[in-house]
Amino acid sequence: MIGDLDITLTTNGALLARKARALRDAGLKRVTVSLDALDDATFRAMNDVDFPVAGVLAGIDAAAEVGLAPIKINAVVKRGVNEHAIVDLARRFRGTGHSVRFIEYMDVGHTNGWRMDDVVPAAEIVRRIDAEWPVEPIDAAYTGEVAERWHYRDGAGEVGVIASVTQAFCRDCTRARLSTDGKLYNCLFATGGCDLRALVRGNYPDGELDAAIAAVWRMRVDHYSELRSANTARLPKIEMSYIGG
Ligand code: SF4
Repeated sequence: MIGDLDITLTTNGALLARKARALRDAGLKRVTVSLDALDDATFRAMNDVDFPVAGVLAGIDAAAEVGLAPIKINAVVKRGVNEHAIVDLARRFRGTGHSVRFIEYMDVGHTNGWRMDDVVPAAEIVRRIDAEWPVEPIDAAYTGEVAERWHYRDGAGEVGVIASVTQAFCRDCTRARLSTDGKLYNCLFATGGCDLRALVRGNYPDGELDAAIAAVWRMRVDHYSELRSANTARLPKIEMSYIGG
């Protein structure tokens, strides 16, 4: 914690093996690592990256070693591409204390060519894991937690599923996002953001800044996932790479 801020980092893990210690020393407490498969071919196909999955696994180990744990592993599941990774990833991280969170494939931005048929519903993901290692649901760790938690009945830890398409949770969403150019976005699917940089540079007293940011959040009308349909995929949206997941 820095002040009353809980600073965590979501990363593709490419540099984590080298940077974990420096990040921990700088005050970071936890990391979430995106990892959609354990085999290189599927990993690269899902992520369009040119680094090997082994580097990400080494990064996860390095992060755990310096105490950035327990680690959350985020895996997006896409029909026909990495369904096999559901059981692979569950097996790899069972018993490690880390939690894999399987995320339904979403229509973020425009570049991923999303179709509803690409979505593997969270209920099916849970069924596939349960068939290998029986699981049961457990309570959310905190209000507004987006992942449904399931723990292994044999005590080997837990997994999560994020049913952002089949069971939208916009009502409880607390995720504001800040772009690198200082815009505050109220939703992953927003078409525009509030220019926070201009507010910060406007020399307002802290209290006024707080109130202005709170007002932006209070007046938000975003609930994209609750309205999602095949047609909304074509609406203008910000790209995920611009504001983070
Ligand atoms: S669609 Fe927007 S409001 Fe709904 S859960 Fe996702 S980020 Fe939150």
